[in-house]
Amino acid sequence: MSAAPEVDLAIVGGGIVGLATAERFLARHPGRSVALFEKERALARHQTGRNSGVIHSGIYYKPGSMKARTCLAGKRALEAFCAEENVALETCGKVVVALDELELVQLAKIEERARGNAVPCQRIGKERLAELEPHAAGIAALHVPGTGIVDYPGVCAALARRIERAGGELHLGARATAIGTDGSRVRVASANGVERRARALVNCAGLHSDRVLELAGGSRSARIVPFRGEYYELVPAARHLCRNLIYPVPDPSFPFLGVHFTRLVHGGVECGPNAVLAFAREGYTRGTVVLGDLWDALAYRGFHSLAWKHWRAGLGELHRSFSKAAFVKALQRLCPTIRAEHLVPAPAGVRAQALLEDGALVDDFLIVERGSEVHVLNAPSPAATASLAIADAIVEHVDALLARSSGRAALQTERPA
Ligand SMILES: Cc1cc2nc3c(=O)[nH]c(=O)nc-3n(C[C@H](O)[C@H](O)[C@H](O)COP(=O)(O)OP(=O)(O)OC[C@H]3O[C@@H](n4cnc5c(N)ncnc54)[C@H](O)[C@@H]3O)c2cc1C
Repeated sequence: MSAAPEVDLAIVGGGIVGLATAERFLARHPGRSVALFEKERALARHQTGRNSGVIHSGIYYKPGSMKARTCLAGKRALEAFCAEENVALETCGKVVVALDELELVQLAKIEERARGNAVPCQRIGKERLAELEPHAAGIAALHVPGTGIVDYPGVCAALARRIERAGGELHLGARATAIGTDGSRVRVASANGVERRARALVNCAGLHSDRVLELAGGSRSARIVPFRGEYYELVPAARHLCRNLIYPVPDPSFPFLGVHFTRLVHGGVECGPNAVLAFAREGYTRGTVVLGDLWDALAYRGFHSLAWKHWRAGLGELHRSFSKAAFVKALQRLCPTIRAEHLVPAPAGVRAQALLEDGALVDDFLIVERGSEVHVLNAPSPAATASLAIADAIVEHVDALLARSSGRAALQTERPA
């Protein structure tokens, strides 16, 4: 067997986290080598290319959590990156609207979190809300002026250009199908015949990250469960109903639920998403079923616990998936003048959410070291916003394990015969 070419770092996954990791590694270590494996024929085809396009400000996340830290640092880094690379970005601000007295209590908690994370925001009353979003309902709102919208596929294209300029290898159509050890190296092989020996490996495989961990010989302590988020978009004549971003006060037990209005950086307004179990890891339509994927979710104890605890919320989301009238009703809570004829279906996205055996959704980002490997096992929203800061954290892990392995190699060479 011929020896596979050697690189310093192999990365599985060409979404925004994998690309940012490759770019940051090469920027920090000029002259080192990276090979990125992406199974699709183009980059950013899954979560990154199908998200809401929002640069989150960091108001929701527990102060001190990795989500909070990397969202704040990542947002600043992403804004600077977009300015340097001429990627479309607009800091348009958003409003989080409270519809009744009960939601005011929750809004106050979010405001406290925002202050804990030092995110500028302001409580506003009905009049100011009407100036910012004339068609929004609400008795009060939190105005977050720093929230923005961005072209994430554009960010990925710019990252790819930087990687290639720095000599990095981007292998498209290269599904990693085997990961093993080869002496002191990790060996990665793809379905289209690319093979590399690497000093370290990073798994950024999103919806398949738990399976890539298994491929490398690890065991899944959490499992990815795919939740499809379905969207409508406003027809051009109704786009005036939302000027920027209108969000509801999130339910603390399901922070990712709750439809909202999002203006897109290249035009148009998206409404949604809901969250229903996808019958395939990449199940972008109701009819897409992959039996292995479905079984993986349905046979999992964690999924049973989740379904048992939250069946009522789950049924509500399912109802909105099948009934446009129910979707419209949910949107009318935020924007009472909206009608079914204002909405046409838009492409869906699927969230990769790690679920524990006890049915708890993993809340924070989860990055795990295993030998010479770093596995990103939970990177849901706001991981696109946070991507450059997550990448910095991953590169620190990689640097530490490369330093340890060089230390080990030095010890081995120094050992007397
Ligand atoms: C509906 C929705 C809305 C969202 N809105 C926002 C938002 O507005 N703002 C925000 O900050 N975040 C948002 N997010 C979250 C954000 O999009 C994700 O957190 C982020 O894109 C994750 O990036 P990633 O690189 O980890 O995963 P992905 O973008 O999914 O990339 C993983 C890549 O790995 C590849 N891959 C998988 N297995 C293999 C293999 N074996 N070999 C080779 N390649 C492989 C896949 O093809 C894929 O390209 C949203 C997510 C969804 C789903």
